[in-house]
Amino acid sequence: MQIPGSVKILYTLRLALLAGVLIPVVLVVALAGSWSLRLLEDQVNQRMQQDIELIAHAIRLPLSHALERDRIGSINQALNSAFTIDVVYGAYVYDENGEEVARSGRRAARVATDQAASLAASGDQLGEFSQAGNEEIFSYFVPLTDAGGRINGLLQLTRRGSDFSNYIAMVRATAWFALAGLCLLLAIIVIGGHHYALGRPLRRMLEGIKQIRSKDSQARLVIEGPAEVRNISGSINNMLDRIESSEKLATIGRLSAGIAHELGSPLAALDGKAQQALRETDSESRTGRCLTQIRSQAQRMEVIIRQLLDYGRDNPLQRVSLEISQLVEQATDHALAAALSARDSLCHGQPTIKVEGSPLRVRVDAMRFDQALSNLIGNALHACQSQIRISWDVVDKSGSQSTRIMIEDDGDGISEDELPNLFDPFFTTKPVGQGTGLGLAVAHAAVADHGGHISVARSESLGGACFTIHLPASAPQA
Ligand code: ADP
Repeated sequence: MQIPGSVKILYTLRLALLAGVLIPVVLVVALAGSWSLRLLEDQVNQRMQQDIELIAHAIRLPLSHALERDRIGSINQALNSAFTIDVVYGAYVYDENGEEVARSGRRAARVATDQAASLAASGDQLGEFSQAGNEEIFSYFVPLTDAGGRINGLLQLTRRGSDFSNYIAMVRATAWFALAGLCLLLAIIVIGGHHYALGRPLRRMLEGIKQIRSKDSQARLVIEGPAEVRNISGSINNMLDRIESSEKLATIGRLSAGIAHELGSPLAALDGKAQQALRETDSESRTGRCLTQIRSQAQRMEVIIRQLLDYGRDNPLQRVSLEISQLVEQATDHALAAALSARDSLCHGQPTIKVEGSPLRVRVDAMRFDQALSNLIGNALHACQSQIRISWDVVDKSGSQSTRIMIEDDGDGISEDELPNLFDPFFTTKPVGQGTGLGLAVAHAAVADHGGHISVARSESLGGACFTIHLPASAPQA
């Protein structure tokens, strides 16, 4: 739903909660309240009518006897007894012809002679509301009978209509007052709940974000409040960490590439001169051995420079469709050659390299992907006891396919404390002069350029490290 600009400013979370929770709750309560109020009113009405009926029934018998014997004193006495209960407004006794015989209380509600006669003749008991002047009156009529059961008169008891309406008005006022109180209480609960559960943690989060933006990019949000708010704060912190570390890595990459570029030519010149001098000297002499060492160190520096350049490279990829088996074979050759030329310790003797996987093609930049594969295989060659396994397959995860290439070894594996920095440039556990700490950083950058990532785990089959390249499927694979 599109919200207009002027309303957007007012459309706060608190208002949304009040509108979304309070209004529906109040509407439901008001509906339920007015329905139960109506039921209550009906009940009150019935109760008040029943009161009059009970009194009428109580004095009916003595009145019938007195009327039969024509004793006006007893009739008045019975009528007056009705007034001991404070609800009767007027009482009238009519004979069978509808003529008034006796009366007590207000005259106003007295019925006409012919109406009284017909009511008496009908023999029915009847309650009805009628208007007497400005007043609304409830009348209850009971026929009076003599000892033989013959109708000989009619009793009319009245009650003021205002008794009913006043009481009902009071009940109504109390109910609406209670509803207003409930609304106020609910509003306080919603506003208070919003403040403690959301308003305060969100305000703190916003203040934290403002501080990070304006003053301290190293600062992080405080993880507090309900789970959802804590999750958002945690995710923002993670995102900031990632942005910072990828900015750092990009800067390192550019810096390294710059330095490597500048060092490349002097180093090549140094190697060239050493080679030239070596040709003019006996290689077994002291000077010859020194020159050989200079050449080997210069070549080592060239390797480092090439890796630094690889790491800082951001050329567009030249993707072609290639068989994984072919890529693996080439990368293994490169890794073995590199290990031998660096006189690297190839685990313990020549390792067994098992390659497993059905024909499968991937669309990759051959050179960049080879860097990733050969570095991972090179590391496995260095770490293994005697076995390496390279395998690949396609995994279908929630509808999207990706290709996995796994490089496993039977070495010591990766320890927990190495994991967080494993892919950082210059992280190495090898002795000084042996590792550059760039192999995994280069592999990671190359795979990331292809839209994939590398994960690390313990190898289930060989027990050492298992590095897995995950490549999203960009084209039909098999
Ligand atoms: P380098 O090999 O020059 O040290 P890398 O970036 O290739 O640099 O590797 C970084 C570190 O990761 C290594 O020093 C090593 O401790 C660890 N590592 C990489 N591959 C393996 C593996 N297959 N088994 C055990 N440790 C490994």
